[in-house]
Amino acid sequence: MIYDLIVIGAGSGGVRSARIASSHGAKVAIIEGNKFGGTCVNVGCVPKKLFYYVSQFNKDMENYSSYGWDVGFSKLNWKKFIKKKDNEINRLNGIYRNILTKNKITIIEGYASFIDKNTIKVGKKIIKAKKFIIATGSKPRIAEEFKNYIHSSDDIFQLPQLPKKMTILGGGYIAIEFACIFSNLGVKIDIIYRGDRILKDFDKDITERLQEIMKKSKIKIHLNSHIKDIKKIDKNNYEMELNKKRIKTNYILSAIGRIPNVQNLDLNKAKIQINDDGSIKANRVFQTTNEDIYALGDVINYINLTPMAIRQGHYISEKLFNKKNLQYDFKNVPTAVFSSPQLATVGLTLEAAKLNRIDCYELKTEFKSMKKSFRKENNDTFYKLVIEKNTKKVIGAHILSDDAGELIQLLGVLVVSGATIDDFKKTVAVHPTSSEELITI
Ligand code: NDP
Repeated sequence: MIYDLIVIGAGSGGVRSARIASSHGAKVAIIEGNKFGGTCVNVGCVPKKLFYYVSQFNKDMENYSSYGWDVGFSKLNWKKFIKKKDNEINRLNGIYRNILTKNKITIIEGYASFIDKNTIKVGKKIIKAKKFIIATGSKPRIAEEFKNYIHSSDDIFQLPQLPKKMTILGGGYIAIEFACIFSNLGVKIDIIYRGDRILKDFDKDITERLQEIMKKSKIKIHLNSHIKDIKKIDKNNYEMELNKKRIKTNYILSAIGRIPNVQNLDLNKAKIQINDDGSIKANRVFQTTNEDIYALGDVINYINLTPMAIRQGHYISEKLFNKKNLQYDFKNVPTAVFSSPQLATVGLTLEAAKLNRIDCYELKTEFKSMKKSFRKENNDTFYKLVIEKNTKKVIGAHILSDDAGELIQLLGVLVVSGATIDDFKKTVAVHPTSSEELITI
């Protein structure tokens, strides 16, 4: 039998593309060698958010003790939490599998490699299709020389117990999220980052404020730093030699980006080219250099976020099997870093807008949220809007607040739909909230 579509990889993007194709009557098979749901469900967004929630308890307790609560002794049962998290992930794996079977998609377990442009092999099986979608995702980049001492974000979700000290390499999403999560759980954190500003692609004002807040919560951020050597002293004790100093640690987490999963696909046999960074070359409609083979998500390394892979998968299958061009706006992709407080953004920063020769200005406000009224700390909330001068359109929103992730979703709708600052001003504020400051800004 020749399938209409074979999807390689049952992560969020792969499953969405398979489901949409099947709903339009295509004969679809999906290949997966690991757990269903890919990185996001198994070792990414989902367990990370559970880690984030478990870490917020201490923050909330601290805050409510300032209201007069006499907060008693409390202790996290880490093993119990990990077990609950695993059960939840298993439940989601099952849901993903059900989506596939309910939609009459053939599941083939194993790893695929191309034999030619219409044929793949999975183990001993040879399978043919008219079209393919490669949705194999990515894996953590690990510095080879230190691989025996360091852990990746794949391992962190099975951490057997909380260490006293953790060192985190990198200054991106994963490094900052886990630094805040484990710091909130009482682990002493050192971040080792090669640059001079964490989260360097985000708005400078919000990242600098986050950096300050993190330092106040005793996270040590070593900027312009790199590792020269790591020595294992004994089990769970390491000494690290940095370019400027030496530090001792019990656990090293590497979060220095991810690399596309293309290694065993034999892409050349299907005439699929790759970019210098190892990602698959794809055009604006996610077609590879072979017109019958598409690629989506982290494997094409274009804004590596789960909802991007899902949208791309949906787009490809609507186009191929329903002749419909789904609308998307990939210029204004809302995104959130689940730090404490959260950092979220959509659209352009002032600097990026100016580089694009857009005449614009910014409005900003900074304050202590009402929830923290009784805390000694200063401002914990920062909002910034970037506005195009001629049209008055809000072309960027940059936020630091406890619920920035929730807020940026709706701000994303406003930026995508071209709302102006006048639209913000004519909307009646909701009082008393933090977000009303976006209206009165
Ligand atoms: P990021 O790209 O966010 O950050 C990588 C960090 O590692 C950067 O600070 C980078 O430095 C540094 N780095 C890269 N190469 C090296 C190197 N050779 N030596 C030292 N440092 C290096 O990647 P992450 O690993 O944090 O996350 C992977 C992906 O997962 C991201 O693309 C992100 O989109 C996604 N993700 C999304 C989340 C969310 O939506 N909340 C959460 C977690 C991950 P420099 O800045 O100098 O380049």
